Amino acid sequence: MYQVKNLINGDMVASTSGRDNAIFNPATGEQIGAVGLSSEAEINQAVAAAKAALPAWAALPPAKRARVMFSYAALVREKADDIAREISREHGKTHDDALGEVTRALEVIEYACAIPELLKGEFSRNVGSGIDTHSERQPLGVVAGITPFNFPAMVPMWMFPMAIACGNTFILKPSERDPSAATFVCELLVQAGLPKGVINVVHGDKSAVDTLLDHPDIKAVSFVGSTPIAEYVYRRGTDSAKRVQALGGAKNHMIIMPDADMEQAADALMGAGFGSAGERCMAVSVAVPIGEETATKLVDTLKPKVEALKIGPSTDEAAEMGPVITAEAKARITGLIDSGVEQGADLVVDGRGFQLQGYEGGYFFGGTLFDKVKPDMDIYKTEIFGPVLSVLEPQSFESAVKLINDHEYGNGTAIFTRNGDAARKFSSGIEVGMVGINVPIPVPVAFHSFGGWKRSSFGSHGIYGPEAVHFYTRLKTTTTRWPEGLSEGAVFTFPS
Ligand code: NAD
Repeated sequence: MYQVKNLINGDMVASTSGRDNAIFNPATGEQIGAVGLSSEAEINQAVAAAKAALPAWAALPPAKRARVMFSYAALVREKADDIAREISREHGKTHDDALGEVTRALEVIEYACAIPELLKGEFSRNVGSGIDTHSERQPLGVVAGITPFNFPAMVPMWMFPMAIACGNTFILKPSERDPSAATFVCELLVQAGLPKGVINVVHGDKSAVDTLLDHPDIKAVSFVGSTPIAEYVYRRGTDSAKRVQALGGAKNHMIIMPDADMEQAADALMGAGFGSAGERCMAVSVAVPIGEETATKLVDTLKPKVEALKIGPSTDEAAEMGPVITAEAKARITGLIDSGVEQGADLVVDGRGFQLQGYEGGYFFGGTLFDKVKPDMDIYKTEIFGPVLSVLEPQSFESAVKLINDHEYGNGTAIFTRNGDAARKFSSGIEVGMVGINVPIPVPVAFHSFGGWKRSSFGSHGIYGPEAVHFYTRLKTTTTRWPEGLSEGAVFTFPS
């Protein structure tokens, strides 16, 4: 049994709050560790350390900040396997899946290495006679990040490399369900040469989040998690005049047109629906076949694939998906499947009751496939966040677009087709932030930005990429004149 510590001012310190959260191995159901839930005083200490580190870090030339990011990128690349193991141990995802998460995080660090270029300002000579104007972006100060369980390393790394490269100091509050990987990647950043106090990690639950949201020395908050909490964080944070970006949940649809290659579309649905046991905000959880014939072909192609899913612990190299995160998550997913059956959907493959020999206490769940799902059913309206794929009753292209646009979430979506006209109409008319054309999980690369629409995101900035530079800095514009000769007297009209 281990104890996950806070990282405050460069030191690893165990919380003395007396409140703990148990950490389980999702493959066995056994408790493997615990994390202290920080007190208000401990969080205040971390904020004070970040505040003290701010002036020197913000004043450091961006090229020198970039040098730390170059070292960090090298260290993360070197330790990728160790980070992936930390992720899988507490999250349960397969090792290769965890390595994929590390790779995407690494790309954000590599982008942050370009910070001198990204912070380059604008200059206009002679905006008036003898007058020049330049604009620059300056850091905000101390910023906080609050992250979910499902990408324990990548989501924190969507945030802090860019925030820190921009000249801010950072407080991370990772998910209390799998906090080790986030703590480890922050320790690596200190090892890469980041000055003490620039990155701090405080573990905790709602009370830690509330302390961060209300803290007067925190200027901005990045949040990723479920929609109800995202909305809460956005409202409470902006109420205390902070800049807040809060990314929430999702229900991602994939349209399958009659001309799509069915084998390709079904394989894409398998990876996007069941990878990481469906615990991805960009998981495809709804397949929308266009027309009866496509619907029949789709379910016939998917059924044997779902039945053949290889399920196992992260240590099993052949496993395609691992367990879900907790016993509560398993019970919640079971309840939603029950509701699908009660409300009349056709349960083609039932993952309830799946047991893995030797891992009977684990939170494993079988791949589940529903057919003939209707938009008023709970399994359609709710984010299930488990290995459950719903095939909607057949639609026309127009009704499919309308359904997606009417859904409360707007994170990701995809269309599989060979028809360029339909694909173009889809990408321009769909009310969703990230769109894939024959790409099932269109997570933007690090030099674009990530962000959903509607109730999948609160606040006006996407995360990482160019949007991160805007979120983590504020614009300053300076107008300069060096007058020659004597004053010409006061001017009372508006300068023009
Ligand atoms: P969650 O909302 O339960 O937790 C997220 C964070 O909020 C955690 O750090 C947690 O400690 C904190 N928190 C939980 N309850 C709180 C409360 N009442 N008050 C204040 N803070 C609270 O989310 P989760 O279950 O860890 O993660 C899964 C969710 O995250 C899914 O809905 C998924 O779609 C979403 N997600 C979204 C994205 C995205 O980019 N849009 C990415 C990953 C995950």
